This record gives sequence, C-alpha cells and structure tokens, in this order.
Amino acid sequence: MALTGMQIYKDLPRTNCKECGFPTCMAFAMQVAAGQKALTDCPEISSDAMSNLSEASAPPMKLVKIGTGDTAFELGQETVLFRHDEKFHRPCGLAIRIPASLSDDEASSKIEAVNALNFQRVGATLEPKLCAVEIEGSFDAAARAKLVAEKSNKAIILMGSDAAKMEAAAEAIKDKAPLLYSADASNIDAFAKIAASTKVPLAVTGANLEELAELIEKAKKAGAENLLLGFKNDKIGDSVRMLTRVRRAALKHKFRPLGYPTILDIQASDVEEETVMSAISAAKYAGIVIIDSIEPWSMLPILTIVQDVFTDPQVPNTVEAKLYEINDPDKNSPVMFTSNFSLTYFSVAGEVERSKVPTYICVVDTEGLGVLNAWAGDKITAEKIVATMKDQGVADKVDHRKLIIPGLLPMFRAEIEDISEWKEVIIGPETAKEIPVFLTSL
Ligand code: SF4
Repeated sequence: MALTGMQIYKDLPRTNCKECGFPTCMAFAMQVAAGQKALTDCPEISSDAMSNLSEASAPPMKLVKIGTGDTAFELGQETVLFRHDEKFHRPCGLAIRIPASLSDDEASSKIEAVNALNFQRVGATLEPKLCAVEIEGSFDAAARAKLVAEKSNKAIILMGSDAAKMEAAAEAIKDKAPLLYSADASNIDAFAKIAASTKVPLAVTGANLEELAELIEKAKKAGAENLLLGFKNDKIGDSVRMLTRVRRAALKHKFRPLGYPTILDIQASDVEEETVMSAISAAKYAGIVIIDSIEPWSMLPILTIVQDVFTDPQVPNTVEAKLYEINDPDKNSPVMFTSNFSLTYFSVAGEVERSKVPTYICVVDTEGLGVLNAWAGDKITAEKIVATMKDQGVADKVDHRKLIIPGLLPMFRAEIEDISEWKEVIIGPETAKEIPVFLTSL
C-alpha cells in the first residue's frame, strides 16, 4: 500500500535542512510518495523512521519465490479479496507429493510421471508446478533430496518435521532454493535457523492463527525472510474459512504477521475428494496445494479452475483475428468463421482438428466475445464478417464460394449471400462438439 506524502512527512526530521536538494521536508516527502525519490536520499533520516516507512510501504502480502531459473515458482503479493475488484495475480501451484514410503525407483517413476503431465487448454499449457518430497523415515535425507533435484523439472518442496533430516536435505540442494515445509511450535527455532543459513523459503504452521502469527514473527527475528503460512486440513470448510481469514487479515487489516502467501496440504480420503478440495482451495485462497494423485482426470479439472480464476477479468481472452488453416486445407476445403474469444476459437479449432477434415477458420474480431454475445452486443454483423474474409484473402484460398456459419447465427445467412460473393451459406452446428460429424458428412 503506497504511503501518502503526509504519512512520510511525519517520520522525516522536519528540519528543512535542504541537504536532499529540496527546500522543505514536505517537498521531499511528496517526491518520495510519487516514487521520484528514495528515502535514502535524506541523509538525516533516523534508522527507526527508515524501518517504519519501509515496512509501511511494503505490499500487504509478501512475494515469495521457490526454486530457481526456469522452474522457479512465485506466489504472493496478491492485492484483492475478490477477483472482480482487480484480478488475482499469481495462479495457485499444484504440488505433487512424493511419499517417503516409495523406494528410490518408485520415487523416480512418480517424478518422471509428474514431469510428463501437461494439458493444452485455450492456448496455454497447464501442468503441476511443484514436487513435494517427504523427508521422513529411515532413508538418507540428502540422497533423497538430490534424487528429486536431479530428476524433477519442478520447483521442490521438502516436507518433514525432523530438523536434522531437513537440514541435511536443504543443504544438499540449497542451490535449487527448495521450500521447507513446515516448521511448528516444536521446531520453529531449528527450522528458522536452517532457512536463514541456507537462504531457502520456509512454511510455518500453527495450532491456530494466533499461534501462527507468533511463530512467523519468531522466524522473522531468526533471519528467515521468505515465509509461507502453512495449513493441513481434511475439511474443506475449515480450509476455506482459515484461508479467507488470513487473506482478509493481510489485505483488509494490513496485519503484517499474516501478510504471506499460503500453502495447503490436502488430507483427503480419496482422489475424488482430493480433486474437489484442491479446486475449491485453489480458487480461495491457497497459493499452493499439495496433493497425491497424478490421475489426469483429477488434475485437469483442478488446473482448469486455476486457469479460469486467475485470468484477468478486465482483459478479454482473445486469439488473433486471422485465417487459421487446420489439417492442411487446399482449394476445395470447407470455410467457416467464428469469434476471437479464445475459448470459442480453441473449442472450434480442437473439434475441427479432431474431425481430420482440412478446413479454413476465419476468425472475426468480436472484442473477445463469443458468437452469441457478440451478436447481442453488435460486435459481429454480416458486413463485418464479409469485410474480414476479404481482408484475410479467403476467396483466394479456395475455388468454391461456400461458407459455413455458426448454428447460433442463422440470421446472417441471407444477408451474407446478398452482399458478398459467398453465395452458398450453410448453417453449421450450434455447439463445437457437433463439428466432426457435421464436417465429415459434408
Ligand atoms: S534532507 Fe531530510 S531533513 Fe533535510 S530537508 Fe531533506 S527531507 Fe528534510
């Protein structure tokens, strides 16, 4: 939250000594508030004032980075409780647990399966971003951490409660900046010391929010800077309640001890329950959820919800309005048009691809609206469709003049035939899933 000039002025020496290059402390304060000058440009400022002002002007929720390079995962620095107020900035990350009960070979197989998991949806690649390896039991902690670091292409979470084992694991792969999950009242001093010395992020859990806030302060005093608030729950209602209280405390009440991103270890009784709990928690307000399953049917709905919730509601999700060639079309291939709303386009393109029928898709700029909304909002007209097809040179691509129009827009048929060279307008299916049957029966 940015400070006002007056708030900054109150903490300045107020001697108007001019050493900062400004005639008064107030003039300097206004420049700092506007981001034009730094507090350090005042040589007279006290260390207490500097620390107060730096703290007060920090974002209400800290940004934390786990991992390094291409596999780094960032979370936090969220600014709103409700997506429609602005947007949610950093999508919730899915972390897949590598249980301590697995042998090295079994752990390697699961890590490789996690590496290979990805889905293409509306032009984006959806995948789990983290690997959460349990550091418990009798195996060599450092060796298990190294195995995961070597095999995984994800950011790494080290999960355990034994400080000695966690220290060995963290030291072994500290260059990968893994997250330590998690410290509690019984081991906070030891865990905070490990996090401070290895400079890795640390998740802290508490019996309740009051204890959690105290432990966070303790970890901070010990030098652990990159902190997460950890939760472990088997009841979705409790999880959402807790995550909402934390988010509200950080953003609405600027309660600094809870101004950190969150991580939730899902404790579900089966994969179906885990899927539902993960999806709900990802939407509100977990920064990371740790799950066991790598079943594609479980992962896709969770990742789909994350993708949907974390898109910017103020920016239309669009694809470029141009002529797309699917399945290598030629002069005799069918031509259809659709809107530039990405979900519409990718649904249509995906079904055309599935049909294996070579086809041209002319995408009309509807400002990110689906076809029916675009028609209702006057963003698509027969004239606009004809002009777009002309701009895209569609007539030069084919020898025929047949145009397939969406089944939801039959009203354009006569007008397009009247005003253009496309004299045979065919009304296509209303939904994308009907496209393969439609195209193959032409
Ligand atoms: S140097 Fe500091 S004390 Fe002096 S005028 Fe500037 S802001 Fe005020």
